[in-house]
This record gives sequence, C-alpha cells and structure tokens, in this order.
Amino acid sequence: MIRRFIKRVFGDSKSPSSGKPNDNPLILPRSKHGIKRALIDSCALKTCETLADAGFNAFVVGGAVRDLLLDKKPKDFDVATDATPEEVRRLFRRSRIIGRRFKIVHVMCGRDTIEVTTFRAGGNINGEEEDERPTDETGRILEDNIFGNMAEDAARRDFTVNALYYDPLREEVHDYFNGVADCKKKILRMIGDPATRFREDPVRMLRAARFAAKLDFHIDPATRKPVAELAGLLDNVPRARIFDEAVKLLMSGHAVRGVHQLRAEGLHHGMLPLLDTILDDEQGKRFIEAGLKNTDQRIHEDKPASPGFLFACLLWPQVQRRWKEIQAEGEKPIPALFIAMDEVLETQRGLLAIPRRLDGMIKEVWALQPRFEHRSGSRPFRLLEHPRFRAGYDFLLIRAESGEVAHELGDWWTEFQDADEESRKAMLQADTGPKPKRRRRRKPKSEAAASPGEEIT
Ligand code: ATP
Ligand code: MG
Repeated sequence: MIRRFIKRVFGDSKSPSSGKPNDNPLILPRSKHGIKRALIDSCALKTCETLADAGFNAFVVGGAVRDLLLDKKPKDFDVATDATPEEVRRLFRRSRIIGRRFKIVHVMCGRDTIEVTTFRAGGNINGEEEDERPTDETGRILEDNIFGNMAEDAARRDFTVNALYYDPLREEVHDYFNGVADCKKKILRMIGDPATRFREDPVRMLRAARFAAKLDFHIDPATRKPVAELAGLLDNVPRARIFDEAVKLLMSGHAVRGVHQLRAEGLHHGMLPLLDTILDDEQGKRFIEAGLKNTDQRIHEDKPASPGFLFACLLWPQVQRRWKEIQAEGEKPIPALFIAMDEVLETQRGLLAIPRRLDGMIKEVWALQPRFEHRSGSRPFRLLEHPRFRAGYDFLLIRAESGEVAHELGDWWTEFQDADEESRKAMLQADTGPKPKRRRRRKPKSEAAASPGEEIT
C-alpha cells in the first residue's frame, strides 16, 4: 500500500548541484572517504545489517557521516532505509513507531536508540511535477510526508554535507551533491535554490548559522545571500521549534561562535530577540559571553549542562536591570527581585517560548544569588544544603568572571564548600549584613496580659 507512494522510477541524471534528484551519486570506496567502520555506533551497524539481511537498503545518514568525515565524534547516528516504518518495526523486537503524520521508527539496543527513517521525497520530483506538499502563503512547507527513493531523500535534505549516505556493509559513501568535496573545502552549501529552500523551512537559516559555528565552515555566498532578506520569515515558525533550535545552538559546545554567527547574519531577531538589547549593554554582554563560554567548556569536558541554566544566564542581565528599577521605585530588594524574575520570564515567553517546566530551575538559580552575599552565622551552612547550591554557585562564578561581583566572593565560596568544619567556622565573617528578620510569634492574649513587655522568640 505504502509502496504505492514509492513509485520509484529514478529520474534522469541531473547536475549534482541543481537540487534535482540525481540517480548517479558518486560512490566513494573506503580509500577515498577514509571513514573507519569501527567508529560507527554498534547499534547503528546492527540496525543496517538486520535491514540488509531482510533485503532492504539501509545507510547511516546525515550528521554522523559528515562528522566522521571531519574526524569529529557524531552526536547521534540516524539510519535511512527503503523499508516502510511497519517493515522496520516487524524486524526489531525492541522498536516502536513514533509520529503520526510522518512515521519514524525508534530501534532500541541497550540504552541506545537509533532513529530509522524511510526515504522521503521532496515533492519537486525531477523538476517536472508540481510540489505536492502543502505550504502556507510564505512558501513554508506544512506537511512533508511522502515516501520516496534514495535520490529524492537526498534532494530534500538541507546542505550538501548533510546528504551523505554511508553503507556500512560495503564501506561506501553515496554522495549525491558533492558533499564530500564541500566537507573538505569546509563549505556549507544549500541543496537546490537557497531562497526556495529557506522559504520552505526558515529554520534552515538557523541551522546554517549553527553548522557554520559548530563545524567552523564558511557559508557559501549563494546560500548566504537570501538570508538577510528572508530572516523575517522566522516569525512565522512555531515558537517551540525555534526554542528547540536555540537549545541545539546553545548546547552545541560552540555557543559563543554560534551567537556571533547569528548576529552577523541578522538572525538573532528571529531566534534570540533578547540579544539585541543586552549586547548593547557592556556589563550584560560580558556576563552573557562568560555564561556561554562556561557552557561551551562544560560540554567539551563532558560535564552536565542544562538549558535551564543557560536561559538563566541569557535572561539575567534583564532581570538585573528590572531588579534595580523596581527597587528605585521603592520596593524592598528581595520582593523586587521576585517581581523582576516573573516579569522577565513572562515577556520572554511570548518571544522565545521558554517552556514553563524550566521556570523552577531558572528562578531558583536567580533567587539564590543574594544569599551568596551572606557569609556570617548559620546562613552559609544552610545555603550549602540547598538542592540547587551547585547551579547557584556556578552562576555566581560567571557573575564574578564578568566583573558583576568581586572575584573574592566566588573564591570564598569555592574554598568554603570544600573546607572542613573547623576551617569553615574560621572563614565566617563578622555579622555586619542586615540581620535576618525573626518572625515574632504573637502572644496569646491571656499570656500577653500576664507578662507585658516580655518578648517571645
Ligand atoms: P547534529 O550533529 O546537530 O545532529 P545533523 O545534521 O544530524 O546535525 P539533525 O537535526 O539531527 O542534524 O538532522 C539529521 C539530518 O536530517 C540532517 O543531516 C539533514 O540531512 C536532515 N534535516 C534535518 N533538518 C532538516 C531541515 N530542516 N531541512 C532539510 N533537511 C533536514
Ligand atoms: Mg543528528
């Protein structure tokens, strides 16, 4: 039935840069591409083998092939096949079909999951048929769910370096759009007409900025050209998708470069509108750079990094600004901080769709900051016990790094948390700060009458 869609008559051979399906890909042997089979995830290998044993074609595809060609460690391994999702599902005991409109299969082995996708067609088959995919008035594709052959599958991918297929059994790379050559030249080139492809899916503009930063590639001039004009189309993209893309860019390990790339292409309006106001402010800019640098470093060191923490960083300069303004209007410091936090999160929700599930973490990290100022009595000990102490402390170090608070404060907490009990007591400062308010219990009337003036604490 579904095979009806896979009316797979390969088209005429067309120029590999035209974006039209080309049934004669370059097929590179091991000696030409140099990918070591041992570096392919064993789960992905097994998945391809099982599919091939059952008579299907199966390839490792996309970012993994690109990254291996560039000697980088792939983030994940995706498999593309001519088997339908149902056929894939039947071959693997531990697998499930996900997605309703376009089904893909998750194949589980051990704790790994491999995403298996059936070849999809782009619509503009051989340039002769009308694109069947529904679009909105700006040309954005709303549904993309037609099965196709391998050549069509390659043509609907975004960049030439992302349209490479690795056959683990024959150890060959199938290259439809000269992606291997572009990889070597470090060029990010859109498949097909760049303006049309950006209109179809404006997120590809953000992906271009992300890959250029992550791979240290140049964006091909013809690919870059329409971006300035089309950047505004990002406003039509569902905010949740923009948020996902923002997280990918910020957690790529190349956030500093990625954010600069976004600004250089004028894409930050659509993705991180907050950057505009903040990066004009010297202290805000220093803080965000320090925060992004810290996250990049954590990712390179394989330390955990959370989107909540990152957004806490990105929004902090605004919180600070509002915090000061609200205090200047007469509010006390702590209530003013809470008002500022809520305001900033609410404003950003409309622009960036930060999911509410992150609010708790973000607010806790912010709300802990004034507590690091207190270095006397029992308060530092209580702060150490706080479940978010670590994130709050990491945040404090970024504030110190950016010059917002004294380095000495960060250093004090670094030492305090690792010191033994005796040294901690010796480190405590004389109690000069504002005393924590004691809550007074009101006396029951009869008691008050019995001992007037006596304070109950
Ligand atoms: P990463 O290392 O960030 O995972 P990736 O290239 O694997 O990079 P994914 O988002 O995982 O990127 O997508 C996998 C593949 O799917 C891409 O390599 C590309 O071929 C294709 N793809 C993903 N998103 C798009 C898109 N918006 N338009 C066209 N093709 C896309
Ligand atoms: Mg990927």
